[in-house]
Amino acid sequence: MPDTANDSIEDKLARLKLNYASSLPARLDKLSALWQQADHSEDRGEFHESLIREFHTLAGSGSSFGFPEVTRLAREIEHALQDGQTGTSESLADFVNQRIQALQAIARQEPTKAQPAEAQTMTDNAALQENRRVFVYVDEPQHIDELQDQLQHYGYRVELFDSLARLQSALQQRLPGVMVVSVQHLDEASRELLLQYQHNDLQVPVIILSRHNDTQHRLDAVRAGASAFFTWPLDYSRFIDTLDHLTSHSLPDPFRILIVDDAKSSADFYARTLQEAGMHTDTVNDPLDVIQHIQDFCPELILMDIYMPNCHGTELAAVIRQDESYVGTPVVYLSSETRADKQQIAMAQGGDDFLTKPIKPEHLVSAVRNRASRYRKLRSFMVRDSLTGLYNHTSTKELLAHELAQAVRNGSALSYVMLDIDHFKTVNDRYGHAMGDRVIKILARLLKQRLRCTDIIGRYGGEEFAIILPDTPLEAAHQVIDDIRGSFENIRLSQNDVNFHVSFSAGIAVHPVYTDAITLNDAADRALYQAKQNGRNRIETQTR
Ligand code: GH3
Ligand code: MG
Ligand code: MG
Repeated sequence: MPDTANDSIEDKLARLKLNYASSLPARLDKLSALWQQADHSEDRGEFHESLIREFHTLAGSGSSFGFPEVTRLAREIEHALQDGQTGTSESLADFVNQRIQALQAIARQEPTKAQPAEAQTMTDNAALQENRRVFVYVDEPQHIDELQDQLQHYGYRVELFDSLARLQSALQQRLPGVMVVSVQHLDEASRELLLQYQHNDLQVPVIILSRHNDTQHRLDAVRAGASAFFTWPLDYSRFIDTLDHLTSHSLPDPFRILIVDDAKSSADFYARTLQEAGMHTDTVNDPLDVIQHIQDFCPELILMDIYMPNCHGTELAAVIRQDESYVGTPVVYLSSETRADKQQIAMAQGGDDFLTKPIKPEHLVSAVRNRASRYRKLRSFMVRDSLTGLYNHTSTKELLAHELAQAVRNGSALSYVMLDIDHFKTVNDRYGHAMGDRVIKILARLLKQRLRCTDIIGRYGGEEFAIILPDTPLEAAHQVIDDIRGSFENIRLSQNDVNFHVSFSAGIAVHPVYTDAITLNDAADRALYQAKQNGRNRIETQTR
């Protein structure tokens, strides 16, 4: 599978830098204000700690984003504040003022225009993908090949460093998602370097691997700011859980809100307000377009004007409710109607809430956010499998119908994969049901990580999965799934010092060879059966 994280690493880094640069002026203004306040206050003490902390953080991040001068100046201020003197003939106030001005001048030289929403999202994605890069600092060569090999199967990219200096210089170029340190003795210099990256804006968590399991070694790890401590021999599935946990940005997806209002200016106003609160919006000005927008945008809440020229908002809500798939989607009316009885009538016709215009932006945001968040939670119980977080059987089938209809409409390819773990009964029998569950989770995780976010992964039943790959012809699907198959069979599982491996078989069928969901599903199922017949741990494609 193409590794996009590797392709354009410079681009991503450049975007991260740009983002940092554009945040600098505001950040320095705040710092400057804090300093002015401290400087003019009777008792500078109350600001002392936070000033030092702020300048320390700034110093930590500057170099990482290509601003060594920011680091140098901030560090000078930090030290002067710490010592209460400048080491020069300048007064402390002059010393700090002058450096803050220099910092502000640097910030102003850089592009500062706010980035459009799209660039922002790309930056977030870039940061996420960088997360899969792991820097391993190691002076104990044994086990390292194995570590590198296993991490790669789980989708992490490993870079090895055999000296602190090399690690340090790599950190100046780019930041990994995690640092793993496996050294015999964690000296002062290493500790300081690791600690420095615990204070950055973009924190890089540290995991210590040790041959010793005693308190002194654990204490050393804590003092280096480590987030986790493991000993050899490594329990890989726990280790990967920890890596996943440390690198997952828990930023939830933004809520998707559809705004229906014939007045473009008010629709735009609501859209802007919600966007500023971090939500995604889509706007419909002609009520008759609403169904198409719902299908394409999949909103988690519809904000509906009541009085529109072609059709009344409540009528439109009733039309939306005719489609079973949208029965649960919250509809919130927005209207200048203040009479309670009229509001009640509107609510009875498929609405979930009634907001009265004009509405304060913060009120709009909180009403929309609360409703959308509840809807998302309820929906996830309905459509997700609780063990893996993948789509459940019913929603996978619905999604197949939806995606296939789209593929037929656009004349595009769509691959459909049925996948089943080999000899899974034996895994349960030998290692217990809990281990069986763990294997299912590991496979689910691998699929999520390797497939595109537009692909749909469902847990079809016990140890069976169904995968929908839109815009993907048969050969490409075969290649992706076969890559994942190769990784999965190489993942080492262990229990009570017994190591074992598990594999899966898969069958693939494709649109346009099959044009309806039932025959597509049957063909993939037959191909899966064939893969089992042909010896398992393999992939077969559509058979008649
Ligand atoms: P094959 O290679 O032919 O697919 O053999 P198999 O043993 O994988 O297939 P079989 O369908 O005979 O057995 C599937 C087993 O999966 C039976 C069932 O107990 C187990 N299983 C189903 N769901 C779960 C689950 O959620 N957790 C665990 N641990 N086991 C499950
Ligand atoms: Mg089965
Ligand atoms: Mg099976």
